[in-house]
Amino acid sequence: MLQTLLLTILLAAASFAEEISETPGCVPAIEATAYQKQFQLKFANFGPWDLCSEASDTKKVLSALHTIRAAEFSDEASPLITRVSDETDFDYLAHRARRIQKNGCAGDETVVACVRPGEHTLRLQAPFFAIPAVNRVATLLHEARHVDGFPHVTCEAGPLSGSDGGCDPNLKYHGAYAVELSYYARVALNGKNFHPAYKALARSSAVALMEQNFVRNPAPSRERLALLDFADGHLRLFDGANFREHLSTIVSDGKLIARNYGIAVLPRDRAQNSWLIDPYADAFLSPDLLESLLGTTFRNYNKLNIAERPQILDVLNRLDLQGRLYPERVELMLHPEIGELEPVRVDLD
Ligand SMILES: [Zn+2]
Repeated sequence: MLQTLLLTILLAAASFAEEISETPGCVPAIEATAYQKQFQLKFANFGPWDLCSEASDTKKVLSALHTIRAAEFSDEASPLITRVSDETDFDYLAHRARRIQKNGCAGDETVVACVRPGEHTLRLQAPFFAIPAVNRVATLLHEARHVDGFPHVTCEAGPLSGSDGGCDPNLKYHGAYAVELSYYARVALNGKNFHPAYKALARSSAVALMEQNFVRNPAPSRERLALLDFADGHLRLFDGANFREHLSTIVSDGKLIARNYGIAVLPRDRAQNSWLIDPYADAFLSPDLLESLLGTTFRNYNKLNIAERPQILDVLNRLDLQGRLYPERVELMLHPEIGELEPVRVDLD
């Protein structure tokens, strides 16, 4: 019996790969038990004890904690890396979050997570369990910052313009978004034991955060011209002086649609998925890595049957309004959170 138990523990420990990936294997049992005790995780909250299943909320929380614990970074500085503490990420979290539990964010089910003023409890809601692993980890660190206060302010520009509590004033405020951005930047730039897919998602999350969640965007503006070369189907980026091209990405014909955190490529060949160009990295990123960042229009597009894929000519994405331009019609829809789901169609004569 003891032998079986020992073997199970050893197997579990071995299956969490040393490299931290987007979907790490099983969380090692001894560490998992320690996290459960330290953060007072309740089965009644997160469901049965499960260290391996990707569908288990318990595993998602334990895995996020273990990712924080197991991470290794080098020390290179970057303007995007603003440490608010000398502690390790795990100690930073543990010194602020005495308990992690599910729900309780004032009845608003669209909120990913929250901390109530004066409490040391991190409350995780349904969206937390639907976002990628790297964003779950960053959310824990973001919420830990709120234990010390640092309330958000209203965004003044960008896709979240007008969103109450959607932004921090700037990077120097050292608020929860700065802590979150700093985690993404450290993973992307200094992460030593992360899988490339986890690092790519961290990089893109950093770009999205900079574009959306600061009143003053901390990123230097990077104007880029994206071109589709119809002669050979390669994508090219022009920065004003140099061309870069992505030889493995061939889109013989398609539309380039500027988005708030990149340029989406919508191939006219309906068999191909949409792509996203990250202008900060001068990189062309596969939609497989960026499902969560492509935005509703493109994410839904990639999920459609080939025959059902519409020919979108342009899109408008704002907090309150989304619009899609087709050859013969325009679809306008209010953001679902504001109440209306059905698109209003306007036929073009
Ligand atoms: Zn926050």
